[in-house]
Amino acid sequence: MYKLLIATNNKGKVIELQDLLKDTGFELVTPADINLDLDVDEDGTTYAENAAKKAQAFAFASGLISLADDSGLEVDALDGAPGLYSARYHPKPGANDADRRAYMLENLQGKPQPWTAHFHATIAIAVPEQDVHIVEGNCYGEIIPEERGTGGFGYDPIFLFPELNRTMAELEMEEKNRLSHRAKAVMNAIPVLRKIFMERGL
Ligand code: IMP
Repeated sequence: MYKLLIATNNKGKVIELQDLLKDTGFELVTPADINLDLDVDEDGTTYAENAAKKAQAFAFASGLISLADDSGLEVDALDGAPGLYSARYHPKPGANDADRRAYMLENLQGKPQPWTAHFHATIAIAVPEQDVHIVEGNCYGEIIPEERGTGGFGYDPIFLFPELNRTMAELEMEEKNRLSHRAKAVMNAIPVLRKIFMERGL
């Protein structure tokens, strides 16, 4: 089996990535599986820089081919914010996902609707002591003023797919994993991973 480390501590992302990669034949390993407790500073100025930094740090620490994602929500009426800073979008330290959703809605008050937005994901695949490969995915929708649904994580309850009239949090995981930014990035990552494993004779 081809071992692949899912290089993230975000539980929501781990669950989605495990599902997205489950039929690939790769043996998926999480940091918890190998007792790896690593917190990488996301101080880059691009998604790619942060994703590469995370993937390389986990690959270095584990010796395994590692896949990391850096993602964010870009809201047009907020000039693309919070974007790269989506996980830290709140003035108060210790704020949680619900605080960040409420803060976003506060900042959108008075701005003309629809509040169009897109999620972005950049995935980095790091091969220990070798190069890093970068792929991306986006998904488009709009922010709504009230929360709907209990699935997913982060901004999912306020991100609507207008054509489905359902938020990301109202989708079954299997549906989210067909439509999401991360799903699209993973689709682009799979051929890259296959090539890496093939070249290494794994
Ligand atoms: P990071 O990639 O660890 O910097 O975190 C990205 C942040 O963007 C998350 O903490 C969420 O706030 C948000 N985000 C990324 N992907 C999703 C998603 O699929 N649903 C909801 N929020 C997301």
